[in-house]
Amino acid sequence: MTYTPQVDDYVIWHHNGLVHQGWVYFVDEKYITIETGIKPKPNCQYTKNEKHKYIHTLLLCHPYYWKDLEYIKHRRVLCNHCGRTADNNVRCLGMCVADSDY
Ligand SMILES: [Zn+2]
Repeated sequence: MTYTPQVDDYVIWHHNGLVHQGWVYFVDEKYITIETGIKPKPNCQYTKNEKHKYIHTLLLCHPYYWKDLEYIKHRRVLCNHCGRTADNNVRCLGMCVADSDY
């Protein structure tokens, strides 16, 4: 059976001799994106009112490559606002849902 990527799966993509890896960030029937890195946005006048505090590096992957994806694991997202998980250190600017008792 062919692997069908799900959001928040960790995958390794073997592609033309290169190895990409990261979290599945978006899934659609036409393509998925794989988050290969995040970094904080610079703290400046242009970003201070933005809710989203991170720059996400996303790799686009079409269905005919999904056979080359290797499923590694799935993560549990603690906060849908900021995408915080148990181990990625991402946090909302205000109160993070993951800090409450939900
Ligand atoms: Zn949060």
